[in-house]
Amino acid sequence: MSGSRLQVPEASGARNKEEVILLMLCALSIPSILPFGIFRLYQHNWLLGAIDLTLVLGMSCVMAFVWYSHRVRFASVVVSLFYSTGMLLMIHLKGISMTYWAYPTMIATFFLLRPLIALAINTVSLFGLMALLYGQVSTLDQFTITVSIVLINLFSYIFSKRTAIQHGELNRLAEQDFLTGAGNRRALERSLASCAETQQSHGDTSLLLLDLDHFKQVNDHFGHAAGDLVLVRLCELIRERVRNSDQLFRYGGEEFVVIAWGASLQAAGDLAEDLRKLVAATVMLEDCPLTISIGVATLREQESPASWLKRADRMLYLAKQSGRNAVRIAE
Ligand code: GH3
Ligand code: MG
Ligand code: MG
Repeated sequence: MSGSRLQVPEASGARNKEEVILLMLCALSIPSILPFGIFRLYQHNWLLGAIDLTLVLGMSCVMAFVWYSHRVRFASVVVSLFYSTGMLLMIHLKGISMTYWAYPTMIATFFLLRPLIALAINTVSLFGLMALLYGQVSTLDQFTITVSIVLINLFSYIFSKRTAIQHGELNRLAEQDFLTGAGNRRALERSLASCAETQQSHGDTSLLLLDLDHFKQVNDHFGHAAGDLVLVRLCELIRERVRNSDQLFRYGGEEFVVIAWGASLQAAGDLAEDLRKLVAATVMLEDCPLTISIGVATLREQESPASWLKRADRMLYLAKQSGRNAVRIAE
């Protein structure tokens, strides 16, 4: 509450996993395609050489775009379409020996896009490929190529779907407080940064910093297990009262943060007052009346998450100073 412990890092420019994968795929594609392009130009095969060099140029542009804009979703779709059309064009111009490229191309699509979108793009590519091969290879060969590509897609889909589920589960575990199920400090920091980034699009966003009053005495008189139970019940109580879109985080020991999206200072103040009254009126532990103090602040234009949290913390400090079981609002 004193202010010095508040260390919320500013949104960092660190690259996420998807961005790194995309940049690496582009970076790998360039040296893989460039020698073929140069070789074809050297052989006066202008069309194929131009296609190769266009792909290299396209990949370089995508790399620069992602490097500076971090817009990885859009770029991933563009790269996948680049790969798929490039592959079909090559088979059309250079002949069916290029069909081998269909396999890595389709697997790469699963690295870049969500499983279902990758599957959809690859299915369209497969139809294109079947049309190109029609009449060029024996029926048995065409059947073998089609079945093997369907299997590659099926396995890739299952694998990437399973990875996505595991990834989601790990993320959930990494960002959840084990005892109360509220978001942990890491989740809070991510959410605060996202509030600051999307400030304009959500209107007002307010933050409630809650702290149980004299909680140490609960542990001292009733034991640590009873204290734990109080923390769990407090979170249940808060969740029942806040909206689904609001987020609850455990900030530290017996301190919690509610981020109320789209809530003005007035609305957040009312919410805080409701929560304060609710806790005071609820028996969370037999023979142990409990209260909370709350500091409220609404995110200001261009304000950093650290400053926002610090203002709420200052209000919490004032609420404690005023005798606890109180709400203070940062005007
Ligand atoms: P104040 O009204 O000023 O907030 O007083 P307080 O006693 O609540 O504050 P203080 O910071 O002195 O004590 C917080 C206590 O919270 C101390 C610590 O033992 C307890 N605590 C922190 N985390 C947990 C937990 O996970 N379980 C339990 N049972 N207690 C915890
Ligand atoms: Mg306390
Ligand atoms: Mg405390």
